Amino acid sequence: MNRFLRLRWLWLLLVPLLHSPALAGWLSQKAAIMGTEVRVQLWTDDEAAGNAAIAAVLEEFRRIDRLMSPYRESSELALLNREASHRAVKVSPELFGLLQKSLKFSRLTEGAFDITFASVGHQYDYRKGIAPSDNKLAADLPKINYRHIQLDPVQGTVFFKQAGVRIDLGGIAKGYAVDRGIALLQQRRIDKALVSAGGDSRILGDRGGRPWNIGIRAPRDRRSVAAVLPLTNAAISTSGDYERYFEADGVRYHHIISPATGRSARKLQSVTIIGPDATRTDALSTSVFVLGPTAGLALIDRLPDFEAVLIDHHGRMRYSIGMQSIEK
Ligand code: AMP
Ligand code: MG
Repeated sequence: MNRFLRLRWLWLLLVPLLHSPALAGWLSQKAAIMGTEVRVQLWTDDEAAGNAAIAAVLEEFRRIDRLMSPYRESSELALLNREASHRAVKVSPELFGLLQKSLKFSRLTEGAFDITFASVGHQYDYRKGIAPSDNKLAADLPKINYRHIQLDPVQGTVFFKQAGVRIDLGGIAKGYAVDRGIALLQQRRIDKALVSAGGDSRILGDRGGRPWNIGIRAPRDRRSVAAVLPLTNAAISTSGDYERYFEADGVRYHHIISPATGRSARKLQSVTIIGPDATRTDALSTSVFVLGPTAGLALIDRLPDFEAVLIDHHGRMRYSIGMQSIEK
């Protein structure tokens, strides 16, 4: 065989490669949605299909934000906050379902998770450094109580039994959107991906035969990491007192509110929950933050599918029972 012929053979081998639709690899994109950074990373052997899948996930986040944002006047949630203390308001089955889930977490956590926290919570402005006065707080505190929310599953309606009640799904909606994003990817037969929205993430599969390494931020040092967790096929949510806050007279006012006091929960600096889906890890991270280390770890140790890593107000790490064997 002469040299020319060998080269011809080489071309025959290369041609199919050049004509294949795209090379396999990781694709990644991020966007600012729901007041946070949403990130989608996935493995695909078809770049166009992978990009279309990412676009679908980001559009799903935008759709959920349009439905559930308390800041958009046109959202169903804003409609509830305007009308539901006057009349029973019919909402979409999707919002109704997430309200039912939220109430389930209120019962599970004996009121630590309570979407009516917003009856007082909306009076805080963390960017402007504004908090309600003690008098205003005392007057509005009775409006925080998930039992004020009346759901009618037959009519699909929501009624607030008390005037002035407001709700906010900020403690669960990001996790819900992450789960919806993962479901969309699974429908498109993607089996290796990460979807995250701020502190809530879910991983599908692994990262090329290895786990994803997810870092937990050190609460008082933006640049350092307190722990790294290797995860496959899992959801992880972190709630921290450093995400949205301001300080006044040495007090840190942050965005996780104890329903009992109407003030920021003080017993922890950060809570990380690992579990099978992000809706529940999101709600539980907020819940455990409010419950504090003792009641919070007791709750997680009762739930077989969930583990927790806490950083208490001294900066010490605390672990649920299932994590202690991993830690050693
Ligand atoms: P996360 O970062 O997931 O802990 O969510 C914090 C968000 O949850 C806050 O920004 C509020 O929108 C909401 N939130 C605050 N306190 C509570 C509470 N006690 N129960 C339910 N949601 C809350
Ligand atoms: Mg949460």
